[in-house]
Amino acid sequence: MSSNANPKGSLLIITAPSGAGKTTVVHHLLKQFDELAFSVSATTRPARPGEVDGKDYYFMSTDEFDQALEADKFAEWQEVYPGRRYGTLKSEIERLWSLGKTIVFDLEVIGATNLKNLYPEESLAIFIQAPSPEILFERLRNRATEDEESLRVRIERATLELSYADKFDIVLVNDQLEQTLRKAERIVSEFLL
Ligand code: ADP
Ligand code: 5GP
Repeated sequence: MSSNANPKGSLLIITAPSGAGKTTVVHHLLKQFDELAFSVSATTRPARPGEVDGKDYYFMSTDEFDQALEADKFAEWQEVYPGRRYGTLKSEIERLWSLGKTIVFDLEVIGATNLKNLYPEESLAIFIQAPSPEILFERLRNRATEDEESLRVRIERATLELSYADKFDIVLVNDQLEQTLRKAERIVSEFLL
């Protein structure tokens, strides 16, 4: 098989605890750079209002996720919250690379570390950090997407995730949103050169 049959491209991995601003930054970058495309993950969590299957996530039942696992379809996956699994499909990476895109991933810290280790030369991993844990929890609460139990689980997990910050290439502190977005644009412009 010639190397062109399965071209390897680049990976831009955005990671952070829930509520730090990954989705906000990723959406902005996708609007700014045509070269980027979003890796749609598979998940067993239910869709939030407004989320679209195949765009935000591939929403799967537990059985469907098990079957995909059995068939070795994931590049990485994690049970991020009890009973809630999330994974990057190998087919998604191949699809976007075949279109010549640099792929943007929105992953929790362990999946981000695993994916970076799979593609050390091709990836840039950015950890987004809220100015303080208190501000992080406040943003999560204000987003109003979670019920009390889901909020509690996310806050508990965030404490673990915060300890991973120094394992990534760049830590981007998300204080003033406009400044964060400008910094993210500069980082990506350089990465795409
Ligand atoms: P994540 O994808 O990491 O869970 P989101 O992008 O959903 O985080 O951001 C969490 C919440 O915080 C959202 O309501 C978002 O609008 C808000 N937010 C993001 N960045 C900032 C910021 N710099 N200042 C204030 N609020 C922010
Ligand atoms: P949410 O439920 O808020 O959409 O996502 C919960 C967490 O799962 C976030 O930290 C998000 O980055 C992470 N996540 C989403 N998709 C994947 C994936 O494919 N793999 C891993 N490891 N984490 C993911």
